[in-house]
Amino acid sequence: MLTLGIETSCDETGLSLVDNGQVIAETLASQVEIHSVFGGVVPELASREHLKVLPQLFEILLERSKCSPKDIEVIAVTRGPGLLASLLIGLGFAKGLALSLGKNLIGIDHLLAHLLVTDLEQNLEFPCLGLLVSGGHTHLYLIKSFFEFKLLGKTLDDAIGEAFDKVAKMLNLPYPGGVFIDKLAREGKVDKKMFPRPYIDNTNLDFSFSGIKTAVANYLAMHPEVIFPKAEENAILLANQDVKDMCASLIYALVESLKIKIRRALRLAKVKGLVVAGGVACNSVLRQELRILCEENNLKCWIPSPKLCTDNGIMIAYLGEIFAKAGFKHDLSLDAIPRGRTIPWDFKESM
Ligand code: ATP
Ligand code: MG
Ligand code: FE
Repeated sequence: MLTLGIETSCDETGLSLVDNGQVIAETLASQVEIHSVFGGVVPELASREHLKVLPQLFEILLERSKCSPKDIEVIAVTRGPGLLASLLIGLGFAKGLALSLGKNLIGIDHLLAHLLVTDLEQNLEFPCLGLLVSGGHTHLYLIKSFFEFKLLGKTLDDAIGEAFDKVAKMLNLPYPGGVFIDKLAREGKVDKKMFPRPYIDNTNLDFSFSGIKTAVANYLAMHPEVIFPKAEENAILLANQDVKDMCASLIYALVESLKIKIRRALRLAKVKGLVVAGGVACNSVLRQELRILCEENNLKCWIPSPKLCTDNGIMIAYLGEIFAKAGFKHDLSLDAIPRGRTIPWDFKESM
């Protein structure tokens, strides 16, 4: 069922065509250069850029796939969570195509798409735990099928990606900083006592990462020499051992707090494995540590290749096709949901 996926929730414009679970073609335009000047995503600029590049990317996608618009059977689009104006650009584009081509429209949850696209490369087995670690979210789900989810825990404040990016900003590293902290940490030595493992002295499955920012700020007040003079990509070549050790210790603390909550969830739910996705799932230490945790618990561990961890159109098309095959669709009143739950709860009403 040839499915077009459209992703415009944040600062990446992604389009893809998927058929029978296989990627036929994809295009992706990143806005990192536009926003890096401001040290974070500027919503107004993001939506304007989506509007500008979507038609061009669609043309490129058709060329690459050798498909014609009338071959498309389903149009899947991110409806949230994300930046409202950016989501509306994607939804408008999707609705225009659905109306003019007379094809089914389907709104997709960006977070579940992050997690479930893992099935494209590795077959997911249910029930499983799903850990979404991204720029805006840190969610722990019990996933019973492609259509049944239970949110077990979430961050009460900053997302884990936000913690990476905010610490990177304090260090004067370029945006988005997670990848630079990851690189620096590779040559660093972990000091387990440098940072607290956030929000573990409780019995719940929620996370909190804002405190670790304060801990880093306190560390930097004592060690101002580790702050980079200029936010340039090659600034990290000037890194001293202290900043490398700090980054390694920061990642240790963040990953340990994830591990503690995952172990806790495993005591409550009997699952076949753990799926980890979202941009922070590119982090090398996180990937390795969560694989070890799964091995120790005789569980499967599914983590997408890094290219599928960050935002892309493939995940929207992939999940869109699965939902369409199961008979779900939306009508043209489909609205953006910038925050909170999007599926599967409202599908039933709109069928
Ligand atoms: P959301 O999916 O919650 O709406 P988003 O789409 O902006 O947010 P993603 O694109 O999934 O987020 O991920 C971006 C985040 O991933 C950024 O915070 C970035 O710093 C982080 N990130 C990317 N690579 C790495 C890495 N190697 N180590 C740690 N963090 C990383
Ligand atoms: Mg992004
Ligand atoms: Fe995302």
